[in-house]
Amino acid sequence: MSAGSIIRVSGPTVTARGLVGAALGDLVRVGAAALLGEVIRLQGDLATLQVYEDTTGLSLGEPVVGTGMPLTVELGPGLLGQVFDGVQRPLPALAAGTGDFIGRGGSIPALDRQRRWRFHAAVKPGDRVEAGAVVGEVAETASLVHRVLVPPGMGGTVREVREGELTVTDPAVVLDDGQPITLLQRWPAKRARPFRRRLPATVPLLTGQRVLDCLFPVAVGGTAVLPGGFGTGKTVLEQTLAKFTAADIVIFVGCGERGNELTELLAELPTLQDPRTGAPLAERMVFVVNTSNMPVAAREASIYTGITIAEYFRDMGYQAALLADSTSRWAEALREISSRLEEMPGEEGYPTYLAARLARFYERAGRVVPLSGDGAGAVTLVGAVSPPGGDFSEPVTQASLRIAGALWALSVELAQQRHFPAVDWGQSFSLYVESLEPWMREQLGSEWLALRDEALRLLQAERQLAELVQLVGTEGIPDEERLVLEAARLLREGVLRQSALSERDASCPPAKTLWMLRLLIHFRRTAERHLKAGVPLARIVGGPVGERLLRLAEVPPDEIEQVGAGLLQQMEHEPGGGP
Ligand code: ADP
Ligand code: MG
Repeated sequence: MSAGSIIRVSGPTVTARGLVGAALGDLVRVGAAALLGEVIRLQGDLATLQVYEDTTGLSLGEPVVGTGMPLTVELGPGLLGQVFDGVQRPLPALAAGTGDFIGRGGSIPALDRQRRWRFHAAVKPGDRVEAGAVVGEVAETASLVHRVLVPPGMGGTVREVREGELTVTDPAVVLDDGQPITLLQRWPAKRARPFRRRLPATVPLLTGQRVLDCLFPVAVGGTAVLPGGFGTGKTVLEQTLAKFTAADIVIFVGCGERGNELTELLAELPTLQDPRTGAPLAERMVFVVNTSNMPVAAREASIYTGITIAEYFRDMGYQAALLADSTSRWAEALREISSRLEEMPGEEGYPTYLAARLARFYERAGRVVPLSGDGAGAVTLVGAVSPPGGDFSEPVTQASLRIAGALWALSVELAQQRHFPAVDWGQSFSLYVESLEPWMREQLGSEWLALRDEALRLLQAERQLAELVQLVGTEGIPDEERLVLEAARLLREGVLRQSALSERDASCPPAKTLWMLRLLIHFRRTAERHLKAGVPLARIVGGPVGERLLRLAEVPPDEIEQVGAGLLQQMEHEPGGGP
């Protein structure tokens, strides 16, 4: 492949002539500084390149060299705990909290070439191995076994096995055709990694957030879209999920909407423990970050880098979750690139293929049987969307909504009332409820679905009454309806509200969540019965029972059963407990 030369520079978009043999999507090194870029259009002798780095100082006539490879992601031990930019350059300085970025044209490999890992083989000479088979293991962290897989497209009979301390590029296994299998493999970021087959969405990804786990659950391998206007809590929720969600691996794609958010999270993580393993939380995470000062093309690449890493852990049989905050920044990068290419703009200037691109990205989520045929791995995707002005009719929100398996719509109104997480129960949905029901029944008992329905109906009844109350005041409506309002208030404030800042309540185990809902619904039913039996409303609401329902969040999870049983008794005998 011969070098081309620059004939035009327009921000991150560079046009080159004479880049012979380059293919669409190939990586290129641009100019004397060897800036990293990608071929995004080929027209005759002209190649349009988008450069992942700042192009200031590039001059016409400088060389452009093709690498013959698309943007690839390095996969292997050493990913966990790392912070990368959108094209997977390590940002150790950012991880260390200094916020500095590497210089331009840098080509630090994503995975440390010096570090040695103790490789334990799982195969022996003479064994036949197919793509996806586990040839050995590396203890990447104290709690995660990194399985070394035969890369897709490879396979054969094992000729040689080298156990011991290996760098990521040392051959660990050699096949009979001489091909080495190393701890490191590469994969083109924009192509989905193969698997054997998809599995149904029958297992919930527990988030520790009551409103999500209980009302709008997402399945392991499913997709959730999280749109919300500025300040509605997208970042706090994504970060809370990063800390508490029950995934083996969390890939956090951060687009740094606000300056220090990510640095703060990175600083906090080492102090937090993984609730399941007791290990530092950072050890199960990989960060792909962009800040607004990074070039647009690197921002566009980041979600692909992130999901490729997630798929790689999926292929080892793990449950990975990819959390993106926010996909709107990605869509804006796409828009910017498209406009530089002078493509025909679609709605609000976004390219006409926005929805298709989004769909293709979300399609990479899934719970699957990996190539090896053993076990199940998953990628669950949660994408925040930041509609300008909180207006959900804009193209990115609309396109995301159509794809989403679960919609967690954040409401400006709830956020203003400091009701967090500000998940709007009127707009949100989950398409997984039916397929998750058998799991819930088995693990949490048979009540979940009925309690969920009843809770949603109660909230809906409150919404309908709200209009009436605006007209006539609470005094103007009958006691039965005032009771509905009171029960709905207790449900909102006692169960659905959950502070990310509270040490005890930031995450709630599912059994406790279910108890809280059960108590609340029981309160409503018994109160209704007592009211019908002639107990005055004043004795039902505003008493100690309501107070106790509002304080359930503070009850330690291992005491909820005892506290709950006591409360059920109390409701039965003294409705509301007072006065
Ligand atoms: P967004 O990313 O949607 O712009 P943020 O996530 O930054 O919004 O949230 C804005 C503010 O709202 C936070 O700084 C915090 O004070 C409050 N907040 C959001 N979610 C929660 C939560 N779950 N618990 C407590 N406070 C929250
Ligand atoms: Mg934010």
